[in-house]
Amino acid sequence: RTEEQWRPFNRSRVYMADLESVLHYSLRVELAAHTLIRGQDLTALRKYISVLTKFFPGRPVVMNLLDYVNTRLQNHTDKEISYETFREWLDNTDQSADTALPEGVRWVGCQGSQPHLRRYPCGMWTLFHVLTVQAKSIGGTDPQEVLSAMRNYVHSFFGCRDCAEHFEIMARESLVEVNTFPAAVLWLWSRHNRVNNRVAGALSEDPNFPKVQWPSPEMCPTCHTVKENGEHRWIPEQVLPFLLSHFSSSSILTDYLE
Ligand code: FAD
Repeated sequence: RTEEQWRPFNRSRVYMADLESVLHYSLRVELAAHTLIRGQDLTALRKYISVLTKFFPGRPVVMNLLDYVNTRLQNHTDKEISYETFREWLDNTDQSADTALPEGVRWVGCQGSQPHLRRYPCGMWTLFHVLTVQAKSIGGTDPQEVLSAMRNYVHSFFGCRDCAEHFEIMARESLVEVNTFPAAVLWLWSRHNRVNNRVAGALSEDPNFPKVQWPSPEMCPTCHTVKENGEHRWIPEQVLPFLLSHFSSSSILTDYLE
């Protein structure tokens, strides 16, 4: 990469450009690998689009598009759908409806120091944290809705198959115990930290963005404490408000959007 291409950003903030890039990549690149979508994959796609329609804190044109695609999917009663048809809905350019999902990716907070580092998986985590936080603040009906949609999406479509397997094991282990919206936010945070712990030092780690147990004491001093025996302990009563604020729709920066 050249220096001009690097977009300066604040490491402790969330960017809408990353979230829109994830939508573009998952719906126009990752899904495109599936010529025909049916069975549990079709269910996963429906649930994914449905939670995005409900909880993605997007610009009006993007929300209009999600609404449009969601409606088409709900009305599609066939047992399968071709990616081609789905793509036509996605690229719907009906001017009167004022819908659009920007073409291409523009990573900001998820930029990596090499093209194969960070980017899409970073954006995916960010998207799912934002969705669990939105579900908590808007108030859905099912505290497991977002996590279960995420689990199904990852299982059916996430390109990193190793990641999908690991994630499925964690979900199978304890997702049923999530009974409240705050618990859903904290579940995803703690599982993400488990992944950080497992992949720290791996080849997939960007040396400029080392894997840490997150948020660091610099980002959230009150989230951490040390027990008498010197062991680190999280303070969930502090972590929760930190996450709700960090990933809240009003904290998302709109720099670098077209
Ligand atoms: P990421 O871990 O992608 O995090 C993105 C941003 O989220 C960080 O920059 C930080 O701002 C914030 N963040 C970090 N930790 C937390 C937290 N605990 N809670 C909330 N926010 C946080 N890679 C593997 O090698 N093996 C795997 O098994 C694997 N499983 C994955 C499963 C899923 C569902 C996903 C989406 C990705 C997985 N990956 C896995 C990829 C890996 O977790 C990283 O996404 C990738 O290495 C890029 O790392 P990153 O430095 O951009 O930070």
